Amino acid sequence: FYRPLEKINAVIETYPRGLAGFRSFLELMATEPDIADAPDAVPAPALRGAVRFEGVTFGYAPGRPVLRDLSLAVAPGETIALVGPSGAGKTTICSLLPRFYDVQAGRITIDGIDIRRMTLASLRGQIGLVQQDVFLFAGSIRQNIAYGRLDATEAEIRDAARRARLDALIADLPEGLDTLIGERGVKLSGGQKQRLAIARIFLMNPPILILDEATSALDTETERAIQQALSELAQGRTTLVIAHRLATIRDADRILVVTEQGIAEQGSHQELLAANGPYRRLHEAQFAEAS
Ligand code: ATP
Repeated sequence: FYRPLEKINAVIETYPRGLAGFRSFLELMATEPDIADAPDAVPAPALRGAVRFEGVTFGYAPGRPVLRDLSLAVAPGETIALVGPSGAGKTTICSLLPRFYDVQAGRITIDGIDIRRMTLASLRGQIGLVQQDVFLFAGSIRQNIAYGRLDATEAEIRDAARRARLDALIADLPEGLDTLIGERGVKLSGGQKQRLAIARIFLMNPPILILDEATSALDTETERAIQQALSELAQGRTTLVIAHRLATIRDADRILVVTEQGIAEQGSHQELLAANGPYRRLHEAQFAEAS
């Protein structure tokens, strides 16, 4: 009974500047062998966000690698869209960066530093996660946004809400930012929850962003608002997107087609269409209706 609670506490402590998603907590508790600071780990400096996977091999079960000798370099500020068939390993690639799991061979560096040499708190404090399931707690909207950075000022919270396209909603509520959400308060829609998560990350202001795009349908207006907020959020940050939507994929600096064999091809949307390879086939199969 106590172990999982201890683990939640340990995880919360490693996210002093906020955590956008809760699913990773649950994943961590369910499947994760202990990941801890190395004895000689040091706090990472303020990162620029040059991410490198060097010959990374990883699997969840012995003898069944999901990633084999994967290499990938992402420049500071670059947006990469990961596309590919279900189960190919897109989420897995993203889970390795905040060290929800450790690689079995190879290494991952940020700004040239092996992430296992950094303290977990200093690593995870510089990676913003926007996931499909948003973790909200019973409390005010203000408290839920400020979870992204506990010492944020009123002006900073309002600015984050505005950039996340939440200001109209807040203006409509009688108690504004102090409106309670959760069981005893206002029930937020899926799109509003996502914008709240985005506001947290604006406050957190991390150099690196991992975006697990929602697959569930939202109405067009909400979808557009979220899309705009997310592309603003990605500006100037190294961003890995697990992409399901055409718009995000087209806006990415580079698209990586991930298959069970690894990175099958990479390039811009136009380049990959012209290459007439796996991306084009995937695009025609998956996105025919959307385009
Ligand atoms: P999707 O588009 O469906 O999200 P994906 O490309 O993100 O797929 P992953 O979720 O990374 O793929 O999964 C890669 C492989 O690893 C799959 O075979 C999956 O079943 C397996 N896998 C993923 N997470 C776990 C886990 N926590 N424990 C065991 N196996 C897992």
